[in-house]
Amino acid sequence: MGSMIDPYGRGIRYLRVSVTDRCDFRCVYCMAEDMTFLPKAEVLSLEELDRLCSAFVAKGVRKLRLTGGEPLVRRNVMWLVRRLGRHLGSGALDELTLTTNGSQLARHAAELRDAGVRRINVSVDTLDAAKFQRITRWGRLDKVLAGIEAAERAGLAIKINLVALKGVNEDELEDMVAWCHGRGYDLTMIETMPMGDIDGDRTEQYLPLSVVRARLMRRYTLEDIDYRTGGPARYVRVKETGGRLGFITPLTHNFCESCNRVRLTCTGMLFMCLGQDDSADLRAPLRASADDAALCAAIDEAIGRKPKGHDFIIDRRHRAPAVARHMSVTGG
Ligand code: SAM
Ligand code: SF4
Repeated sequence: MGSMIDPYGRGIRYLRVSVTDRCDFRCVYCMAEDMTFLPKAEVLSLEELDRLCSAFVAKGVRKLRLTGGEPLVRRNVMWLVRRLGRHLGSGALDELTLTTNGSQLARHAAELRDAGVRRINVSVDTLDAAKFQRITRWGRLDKVLAGIEAAERAGLAIKINLVALKGVNEDELEDMVAWCHGRGYDLTMIETMPMGDIDGDRTEQYLPLSVVRARLMRRYTLEDIDYRTGGPARYVRVKETGGRLGFITPLTHNFCESCNRVRLTCTGMLFMCLGQDDSADLRAPLRASADDAALCAAIDEAIGRKPKGHDFIIDRRHRAPAVARHMSVTGG
């Protein structure tokens, strides 16, 4: 088995793959309502995605997360999940998972479990149906909740992702903790990240998690725990519920030194850092030859350029995104 070590000595063990840039929702912090999506010809086929992911697994990646856009709206995506599941069977991969908006989960939950998926992240920002529609523009809360229940019945562990939004769901956050932990789900709260043009003004949505944390501490006892995933989340145990609560504060730099991940888009661009524009084209070497030598060389070259940290900042003067691409390109 190979291994990928970047110039700062970080072992790259985690690959996130955006399998499509398309989505059946239009969350206000993620997309403009009239998004232009990639022409289909530019998008890697499922076979190509399998080959690329498998090359990363051969090079030492132990964890794969499928994301998007909405991964479950990609036609035939379960074929890819099953294909990648073979690496779990061989022991080359520790975990295959996905991040989903839950809209298609009711249909796919049992098959995901059958293909080897054990945990999923589902994004739910509010439990108020009207608010849910305002945030997602096109989403329906009842469908998502039915999807989550199907996932639970199928035996999948569930983590809820919630983007904290000023003046939108900030009044519900304490109840969300109770709801998630009452059902045995982990919960991770995320700060809005300045990625891609959206219709609104991001500085108005931005709610610092330091404020959220202070408020939660009025109702809950938050105990620091030593649970790390190599990502930007910091976890606490909520004493009253016994559940785990994560905070993702991408605008701080405190996680870059342990960063173990890279991100692949559905066109085969590899982003070495969520908060930087530098990327490497892996589609060209992938398509240039049927053997993986050129592809592996391109991966090595890219890992050699992984930056030390990110440059996120919400630009309050120009209100421009710090990173031009949308979150749906790399999937967060
Ligand atoms: N469609 C799937 C979903 O919503 O879970 C997967 C892709 S989505 C881009 C991945 C995660 O990124 C979601 O939890 C979403 O809430 C979050 N996200 C999207 N845009 C964001 C932004 N600008 N700032 C912070 N989180 C964002
Ligand atoms: Fe779609 Fe996920 Fe972005 Fe919402 S956050 S628009 S569900 S990709």
